Amino acid sequence: MQNNKKFRTWLDAFALSHPLVIAGPCSAETEEQVLETARQLKNSEATVLRAGIWKPRTRPGNFEGVGALGLKWMQKAKAETGLLLATEVANPHHVALALDHDIDILWIGARTTVSPFNVQEIAEAVKGTDKIILVKNPVNPDLALWLGAVERFFNIGITKLGVIHRGFSTYDKSKYRNLPEWQIPIDLQNQFPDLPLILDPSHISGKRENILELSQTAMDLNYDGLMIETHPNPDEAWSDAEQQVTPQQLFEIFKNLKVREKEGSTETYKDELNRYRKHIDVIDDQIVQLLGKRMHIVDGIGELKHKNNVAILQVKRWNEVLKRMIAAGKENNLSEAFVMQLYRAIHQESIEHQQKNK
Ligand code: PEP
Ligand code: MN
Repeated sequence: MQNNKKFRTWLDAFALSHPLVIAGPCSAETEEQVLETARQLKNSEATVLRAGIWKPRTRPGNFEGVGALGLKWMQKAKAETGLLLATEVANPHHVALALDHDIDILWIGARTTVSPFNVQEIAEAVKGTDKIILVKNPVNPDLALWLGAVERFFNIGITKLGVIHRGFSTYDKSKYRNLPEWQIPIDLQNQFPDLPLILDPSHISGKRENILELSQTAMDLNYDGLMIETHPNPDEAWSDAEQQVTPQQLFEIFKNLKVREKEGSTETYKDELNRYRKHIDVIDDQIVQLLGKRMHIVDGIGELKHKNNVAILQVKRWNEVLKRMIAAGKENNLSEAFVMQLYRAIHQESIEHQQKNK
């Protein structure tokens, strides 16, 4: 797949203000809920109404979506409010029903993107349509798999394409339900700067409190849009209750969000600088996290040496590490002096960690 300006044309043709905002409930629940959401969103930043019709649930027995009936409610909402419609499709049967009900944007869910067989079947089902297809990242942090899914649509002749960043599964407890791993969409942007990139802060966050902060990062990183789960009564939602916001809260989020200019004379420099700095922030976070992980391993070594009554400082090993890293540094355009200074500091910290195990 070549990087191709054509990807953007659908977004430009929408003639919408930046960013593109897709809002609506995690799941369509009742006709009243869908219509009420749409009515409240009519005069908001949102131009597209989202609702899940078929819900991929982790365990059976949870609410699995209302099915095709919900598509009728969405059509009614569109007729009444003029909002465009978006829903998730996970198989050719869903595609046929979505096409029958005039859904404008079909998205591929994170659990579907992981499966090339499913994605290929869906791509064949949309062949020849002019629908917009948005591909969510796979649940696992694999850029090739994400791009591979986009490519299956591209190869079948779909050019109205975009991607949705919804975070990556983690077994560890963290602030987020799904880790953002910003470096992955940043790599994607670098490879395909014209592929519209949308953030789904709701599924990354898992909690409505973090949605503004995540959306701001997306704006700072030049994302093209946001997909935010919005429900008239979030606490009573049949799925993803904790992460949904009311249309009023959505309005507040946009009041506080600093939307960055995409282009423009005086702002260009600041935007570019901001973008570089955000990239640096992401990398700095990774550096410190990795150093923390390294020191954790060092603690293990300290304990082992202590149990076996072995001295902490092993000069031979230290010289080997230094030699290896100076060579690696050269390959990465880092001076010997810098690598030596850096590794002296790391080594010193390692010794101090091990001394705690004395
Ligand atoms: C959703 O958008 O409601 C959804 C199920 O998302 P994901 O595929 O990102 O989990
Ligand atoms: Mn959801």
